Amino acid sequence: MEWKFLKSSGIDSRKVHVDKDVIIGNESETLMIAGPCSIESWDQIEKVAECLVSCGVKVLRAGCYKPRTNPYSFRGLEEEGLKMLAEVRKKYGLKIITEVKDATQVETVLKYTDIVQIGAKAMWDYGILAQLSKTKVPTLVKRAFGATTQEACQIVEYLLDGGNENVLLCERGIRTFEPNSRFTLDLCGAEWIKERTNVPVVLDPSHAMGFRYGVPNLALACMASGPHALMIEVHPDPPNAKSDAAQQLTLSQFSKLLPRLKKVANAVDRKII
Ligand code: PEP
Ligand code: MN
Repeated sequence: MEWKFLKSSGIDSRKVHVDKDVIIGNESETLMIAGPCSIESWDQIEKVAECLVSCGVKVLRAGCYKPRTNPYSFRGLEEEGLKMLAEVRKKYGLKIITEVKDATQVETVLKYTDIVQIGAKAMWDYGILAQLSKTKVPTLVKRAFGATTQEACQIVEYLLDGGNENVLLCERGIRTFEPNSRFTLDLCGAEWIKERTNVPVVLDPSHAMGFRYGVPNLALACMASGPHALMIEVHPDPPNAKSDAAQQLTLSQFSKLLPRLKKVANAVDRKII
């Protein structure tokens, strides 16, 4: 038996079509994805959307169902948030990516989004995988922080084998002995995925670093390594964000980072889409 995620299966690279000008997996292109950890209000998401549109970013990411390690933390606006995202999509022409936390939301989330995210803590949720594998919806799997690259790829295999070939794999940091960052971004693992597998790779420096100060440099390093997509958390007022307050970039930090990302992309013969 040959894993479908391997290049040696006969498929060298997979391309995920979100829209005619949003195709993830082209060799020399990196899709920029940005947005707040959680959607919190219409005012908040509109500020983010305006910033993304002015920067030429096409995909907005925001969570409505948040898996929290502390049960007393904000858990998301749920369907009310999804409705706002749908409104943002219509008003600003942005594509949307949002997360499912467990299998009970899959059907609801599918009504509103362009790309579904399976969060790191839900990577092994076989209920979610069973449902999404029966669809063709572009699905971004975040590697669990305690999973090897092989284990993450085997989760991708569930979707491929079930018939959903529109899968992306996101490296967002693994747990190591290093306490000064939230996680450790495994760029070596990402290289292995690019070398051996046919699955587009997404890099998420925000969750790996966990602290705003390191995110811009880490994002530049990610871009230099040539991911198929780069995902960054941005918020109009990060210190008061309801989740991941320490790591989200301000809108102004993000706007200043983009031209620098473009220079790095240029230097490694890539184009940001
Ligand atoms: C997120 O993307 O906001 C998130 C919760 O990330 P992760 O699943 O990687 O922890
Ligand atoms: Mn987050």
